[in-house]
Amino acid sequence: MFYSARTFEYPYPTAYSVHTASIGMEYPMICFNFGRPKSDGTYSHRTYEGMVSVVVHEVGHNYFPMIVNSDERQWTWMDEGLNSFLEKETIRERYPDIDYTGNTPKGITRFMKGDQSIMRPIMAMSDNQGYSFGANGYSKPAAALTVLRETVMGPELFDAAFKEYAQRWAFKHPQPGDFFRTMEDASAVDLDWFWRGWFYTTDRVDITVDEVKWYQTKAEVADPEKKNVAVKKGDLSKSGTASPATDFSAGPQMFSVINTPDNAYREFMNKVDDKAVIQKLEGKNLYEVTLSNTGGLVSPVIIEWTYKDGSKEIDRIPAEIWRTNEKTVKKVFVKDKEVASMVVDPNAETADINTEDNVFPKKAVESKFDQFKKGN
Ligand SMILES: [Zn+2]
Repeated sequence: MFYSARTFEYPYPTAYSVHTASIGMEYPMICFNFGRPKSDGTYSHRTYEGMVSVVVHEVGHNYFPMIVNSDERQWTWMDEGLNSFLEKETIRERYPDIDYTGNTPKGITRFMKGDQSIMRPIMAMSDNQGYSFGANGYSKPAAALTVLRETVMGPELFDAAFKEYAQRWAFKHPQPGDFFRTMEDASAVDLDWFWRGWFYTTDRVDITVDEVKWYQTKAEVADPEKKNVAVKKGDLSKSGTASPATDFSAGPQMFSVINTPDNAYREFMNKVDDKAVIQKLEGKNLYEVTLSNTGGLVSPVIIEWTYKDGSKEIDRIPAEIWRTNEKTVKKVFVKDKEVASMVVDPNAETADINTEDNVFPKKAVESKFDQFKKGN
């Protein structure tokens, strides 16, 4: 079974799934699963999807919490969240004819957009899960683990650490910290920030692209005594006072790279080869991206660049980009080609709740109304 590949060999002699009219409920080695074909024996695709989901889910409970025996009255996510995650993984792998968005980052954004004043963190006890027990106790942790696997850790590392947790805690009584710690010490990845944001708060992922500045370097080396000035081409007076750029129409701003002053090296023995740096940047396009963490939840940043020749490139930046400032960051990207546009989280893998502000140039965002007008 798929679950065993991600956890441990199934140790019980049987795993019955009993067909019922209306309940899905789990017990060790036996579970009761609803969804009925029509009286003539046929069934709709929707019924099929529902039945597969519920059978996978309830049989899956043999692993969590029947064997990895967490306290389900205290921590809903430890059985329902982990199990919903593996349910999603199973369906994605074994049932490609099912279009399954439940328990995914994309699927959770609707819930995450909700009223935070009545939301509770995943790490609230079962009775205090807030207004949406299913979304908060099942789908949010499953979506979070998907972000962790696909975007933060990578499948290989995540699967190994998850398996270690399942094997270490089979037939024992793990607490939340046991899961958090095992995922960290089995992978050697610091995930404190991830547990804090996704499990202990109601913050959401919402990254905003504030501005993208386009620079090119002047060929000559500037006098290090003078300040490194960034000047908009052909418009000296406005430099420094211009409002944030909303597109690339003003062209690149030219700047000079200065030689590094000796005192900047402090105790370092080696010096930077300024000439080589300057040569390396010659003819390149530098894009300084300013991002805001509008939703509060720290997230990796995935940027898709579209160049003027129509080609595309993706940069993946780990969440550590927010390490010294959780609210706003600037990062410079050096590109051979000229950029036409960029978008953050192009494949909707981070659960960003508002993707309208993920693009640059700003005017590239078309309202539904504009699209409607064009289409007619
Ligand atoms: Zn369940």
